[in-house]
Amino acid sequence: MRIEDLISTYSYAGDIISAIICFVLLVLIRQALFFTTENDFRQVSKTIRIVMIAALANIAFALVITYMPESTAFVFLTRNVYHSCLLWALFLFTIYITKLVGFPPNKFNTLRDVMGVIVNIGIFADILSPVTKIGFYESDGLWYDSTYVKPFTVTYIICMLFIAYMLLGYRRRLIKQLRITFIIVELIVAVVMIAENAADSNTYTTSTFLIPIIAILILVHSKPFDLVTGSMDKSALASFIQHTGKRGYEVDYVILEIRLDDLREMPEGLGRILYSTWQTYFKSALLFNYDKGMYVMAIRRRGASDAAKARLYSLVQEELPIYYRDYMLDYKILALHNVDFVKNLDQLKDIMTYALGKMDYNTSRIATEDEIERYSKMEYIVEQLQDIVEKGDLNDPRVRVYCQPVKNMHTGAFDTAEALMRIEIPKYGMVYPDVFIRIAEQKEFIHSLSQIIVHKTCKAMNQILADGYKIDRMSINFSLDELREPNFCNNILDIIHKNNIPESKIAIELTEGQSDSDYEIVHDRISVLKKYGIKFYLDDFGTGYSNFERVMKLGMDVVKIDRSMLIYSLGDQRAWYIMKHFAGVFKELGYDILFEGVESEELEDLCIDCDADYLQGYKFSKPMPVEDLWKYLER
Ligand code: C2E
Ligand code: CA
Repeated sequence: MRIEDLISTYSYAGDIISAIICFVLLVLIRQALFFTTENDFRQVSKTIRIVMIAALANIAFALVITYMPESTAFVFLTRNVYHSCLLWALFLFTIYITKLVGFPPNKFNTLRDVMGVIVNIGIFADILSPVTKIGFYESDGLWYDSTYVKPFTVTYIICMLFIAYMLLGYRRRLIKQLRITFIIVELIVAVVMIAENAADSNTYTTSTFLIPIIAILILVHSKPFDLVTGSMDKSALASFIQHTGKRGYEVDYVILEIRLDDLREMPEGLGRILYSTWQTYFKSALLFNYDKGMYVMAIRRRGASDAAKARLYSLVQEELPIYYRDYMLDYKILALHNVDFVKNLDQLKDIMTYALGKMDYNTSRIATEDEIERYSKMEYIVEQLQDIVEKGDLNDPRVRVYCQPVKNMHTGAFDTAEALMRIEIPKYGMVYPDVFIRIAEQKEFIHSLSQIIVHKTCKAMNQILADGYKIDRMSINFSLDELREPNFCNNILDIIHKNNIPESKIAIELTEGQSDSDYEIVHDRISVLKKYGIKFYLDDFGTGYSNFERVMKLGMDVVKIDRSMLIYSLGDQRAWYIMKHFAGVFKELGYDILFEGVESEELEDLCIDCDADYLQGYKFSKPMPVEDLWKYLER
């Protein structure tokens, strides 16, 4: 055909509309979804950009033919860019679908590479068309464009078949609504493409690429705004934090908790106020609805830290609280400034739970630097603990066993000891249990840590015994939470056995639980492990609520009387009498009595008077590295 015939059926409209839609989508993404870090999503926005280039290239192609038909090179160049972009976009799309249907990750890379090679061969063959004379080429001043059998169409069909195979073959993994929508979209696209090819036109080819993209954006990635408050949802907040964290942006947060007990929704008027406040107050702020009645405003800070803090202050202390008069909804407002260590939603959640928990309703404040410093330390510790748990190394050097020798009052010797956990981490050095045990329990790290302690305690005991020192037993603290671990007993026994330590040389210290289910679990575990000879200590007796009858039924071996009881008895005759009485009853029932926190001669005398079996406390030794314990032992 003659050159002008190449575009005789072409209309600019399709590509212009496509380019405009691409542009609008990209703007939308920047405005509303720009912070999404999901890789898959970035692939979509990349695809949109490529499709936009394709549309522009095809427009350029038509312009070249219309206004400078003699420049063959430009004709080929624009056509090549157009085809290459479309095929490349199609490739990204196939990969996206493959991921979306949950194609097995182990085979994913191979599949991606195979598709990549196929598409690249297609692109290459398309570029070579003028030479191979398959596809789009020129010969003796005439132009040819094969109808179906050309590299572009063949590659295109392979990709479409591949997508169809994914949608049908992995149908179970993709939710039904998505799958059906995609299949319909694919069918529409196929019909348009066939019709276009038959008519020798490519006016709407680019637009067909936009249909699945829009479907994906709406179905998979849309993060709509709540129209009343202008907020986005929790998952959007998670993406935002990750995105800003990765790029090292500085972000301040304002957290607003409103008590919406019986009111189901945020009152519209208040919602609007919230909306206009954040809109006018901070240009680059985004509002997120974290939970019912819980809003998080994130402000990307660009200017000086002090100025930002001053503005935060006036918002939090002066502006927002005013509305309480009108709405009478209880609130808490907390501003967080300089919290760059917050790298994910969990960390922000920790701070929110902790800091808001300590606030009264109808107060607002900016978290103090000390507080922030403490959070950041806490977050660092949590990261370290998590890392320890993930590595699962029983010899992890960060977990340290300290111990305190216990004096046996019958022999006068130190022949048992209590193991006490510490963690030693790069930024903060030695960290003590009062700082990390609670959080380790909450995050369910504690059982992993205990296993390390058991292992290291066994190892240390082996060394002590090998060196010829005598040690009857070491007691290790466990948390009630970790007893729920289904494999608790086996995990502990395994470690003891692997270290070749007789089970009777290990004791477990437990505090009493308050609930029935705690009791059941403790009872269960004790009965299993006791059969192996492991001893049990009832820890901290006298601190909590004690159900005597139940404690008796647990079948423990040693009762540890808490230091607080001892201190109390020192100045109070009646308290002393009660303690002595308890100790007597326990002894009559066959328990050994251990007094903790013996700091002085005076306290020691008190314990001796109560017929103590064991004493432990600073008077004899402060906790020390388990490697030093031998100094207290007899050969
Ligand atoms: P606990 O079981 O009551 O341990 C005794 C605590 O009292 C130890 O503190 C010890 O250093 C301290 N202590 C010992 N003698 C004296 C004394 O004469 N005076 C005073 N004022 N204190 C004394 P530590 O090592 O800081 O441990 C605190 C708590 O952390 C322990 O209380 C225990 O509940 C928990 N813990 C320690 N190690 C572990 C562990 O490996 N696993 C679990 N789950 N908890 C542990
Ligand atoms: Ca203890």
